[in-house]
Amino acid sequence: MTKYIFVTGGVTSSLGKGIIAASLAKLLQARGFRTTIQKFDPYINVDPGTLNPYEHGECYVTEDGAETDLDLGHYERFLNTHTSQANNVTTGRVYQYVINKEREGAYLGKTVQVIPHITDEIKRRMTLLGQNNQYDIVITELGGTVGDIESLPYVEAVRQLKWELGNENCIVVHLTLIPYLKAAKELKTKPTQHSVKLMSENGLNPDILVCRTEEPLYKDLKRKIALFCNVTQDAVIEALDADTIYSVPLEMMREKLDVTCLQKLQLPLNEEPELNKWKEFLNKLRYPKSKVTVGLIGKYVELQDAYKSILEAFIHAGALNECKVEVRNIHSEYLTPENAIEKLQNLDAILVAPGFGSRGIEGKIDAIRYARENHIPFFGICLGMQMACVEFARNVLGIKNAHSTEMNPDTTDGVIAMMEEQKQITQKGGTMRLGSYDCELVQGSRTASIYSSTHITERHRHRYEFNNEYLEAFEKAGMLPAGKNPKTGLVEVMEVKDHPFFVAVQYHPEYKSTVENPHPLFVAFVKAAKEAQEKRNSLGHQVFEKSVAEG
Ligand code: GLN
Repeated sequence: MTKYIFVTGGVTSSLGKGIIAASLAKLLQARGFRTTIQKFDPYINVDPGTLNPYEHGECYVTEDGAETDLDLGHYERFLNTHTSQANNVTTGRVYQYVINKEREGAYLGKTVQVIPHITDEIKRRMTLLGQNNQYDIVITELGGTVGDIESLPYVEAVRQLKWELGNENCIVVHLTLIPYLKAAKELKTKPTQHSVKLMSENGLNPDILVCRTEEPLYKDLKRKIALFCNVTQDAVIEALDADTIYSVPLEMMREKLDVTCLQKLQLPLNEEPELNKWKEFLNKLRYPKSKVTVGLIGKYVELQDAYKSILEAFIHAGALNECKVEVRNIHSEYLTPENAIEKLQNLDAILVAPGFGSRGIEGKIDAIRYARENHIPFFGICLGMQMACVEFARNVLGIKNAHSTEMNPDTTDGVIAMMEEQKQITQKGGTMRLGSYDCELVQGSRTASIYSSTHITERHRHRYEFNNEYLEAFEKAGMLPAGKNPKTGLVEVMEVKDHPFFVAVQYHPEYKSTVENPHPLFVAFVKAAKEAQEKRNSLGHQVFEKSVAEG
C-alpha cells in the first residue's frame, strides 16, 4: 500500500519547505522507494499561470503542460523524474471542480460545504497519485503556514486521512523555525511550540519536526522541543542553514530524516541511499576550476525567484564544466544603445530571458545586437528568441518596423506573430502553447551536435511564433532555423552563422535541466562562455573588440 508523508510549515513562510520535501524524496528514492512529490497551494487562483512573477516567482511548466508552482521545478531537479498536472493542486482548482459538480446536480440537492465536500475533494486529490500501485511513497507539501485561514481545509483533510489510513501509513513532517536571539545568545523554542499547538488545536499532531536554525541544536534543546511538542526525541531534526540547496539531502541524511520517516511508516530501511552522482556534482559545484560571468537580461531581475529554473540550470551546467557561473542581473528597462557597452562589455556571455509585454523590450534588443556584433556567446529563450529575430530583421535585413505583434499589434512587419488558432482564444489562464512538443533539428547544425540528436522534445509556454513568411530572407542573410516542429513547421530554434555561439530557442530548456542531467544547451553555453573568456584573455580585451569592429 502507498504511504503518505505530509510536509507542513509553521512560524513563518520562506523556510524552504519545497527543498526539505524534495530532499526527503531524494533520500527515499535513493533507498529504492518509488517516490513522488506534489504540492497543494491554498490560493484561489486555479493555477499560477496568470500570476505576476513578482507575486509568486517563476511559473514552472510540466511535460503535460501544467502551469505550476516553482517548487515542482525543485522536485524535478532533485528527483530527475517528471511531474504532471496532478502534482500541483490549488484551492481554486478544488473549488472549481466542486462548483462544477454542484451545477451538474451531482450533489442531489444537498447543501455543499467546506466539510465534507471541499475536504473530500482535497483528500481525493491527495491520494490520486497513490492509486494503481505506481508509488511506494507520496510526499505532499502543503503551501502556506499552519494557522492561515486558507490552510484550514487542508489541515482538516490531512487529519481525516491520518484517521482513515492509520498513523503507520500517513505521517506529518512539520517544518518550523528556531530563532537565535543574538543579544541573549540563545535559541528559542517558543515559536515552534506555538505553531505545533496551533496545529493540534485543529486535531493534527506532527510526527516529525524539522527545525530551521542558524545555530546547531544541542541535545538538551532537542529533548525540550520533543517534550513540549509531543514528538519522539529522534523526531527532532536539525536543519542548519546550508551553503547550497543541493547539500540539504546530505544534511537530512546526517540527521536521519529518512530513517525516522521509514520507521514511523513501518517500512524497511533497505540499503543506504545511493548518492554517488549527487556527491560528485556537489564536489564540482563547491570546488570550481574557473569562473565566467553571464549577463541575464530580463525585466524581473530584482526578484531571484522569477528566473529560478534558469539560475538552477546554470548551477547544473557550471558544475559539469567545473566552472562557477556568476549570473549578473541586468535590467532590460535601463539598457540603452548609449550605455550598452558600459553595461555589457565585461560579460563572457549574454542570455536574454523569457517574458511578456513591452516593458524593457528595446533594452533586450540592444543587448542582442551587442552580442551578435561583438561575437559574445548569446542564448535567447522564448521572448529572448523572438527578440533575436526582431533584432536580426531590423539591423541585418533592414526591416525597420520589424516587431512582435505582442508589442506592436499594428506593425507592418510582424516577424513574430500569433497563429490563427491562438487568435480565437480570449481567456488568459491556461491558453498558451504549453508543455512538451517535438522538434526536428537540422543535421549538422550546432544545436543538433549539442544535443547529439536530431529529434528532441522540449517544453513551451508562449502565444507568439516566428512568422514563416520571413524565413527565406532570414536564411539568406545567415540566421538559420536549426529546429522546427515536424507537424506544424513552426520554428523552434534559430542560429546565427559565423558566430562563436548564437542559439535562440522558442521553448524553455531550463525546465528540463536536473542535477543528474544538466541541460545540454546550458552546458554548451557555459563552455562557450569559458572559451570566449580565454580568447579575450589571450588577445587582450581592447584588441579583441577592435578586431571585431574591423571584421
Ligand atoms: N511573450 C511571448 C509569447 O507569449 C514569449 C513568452 C515567453 O517568453 N515565455 O509568445
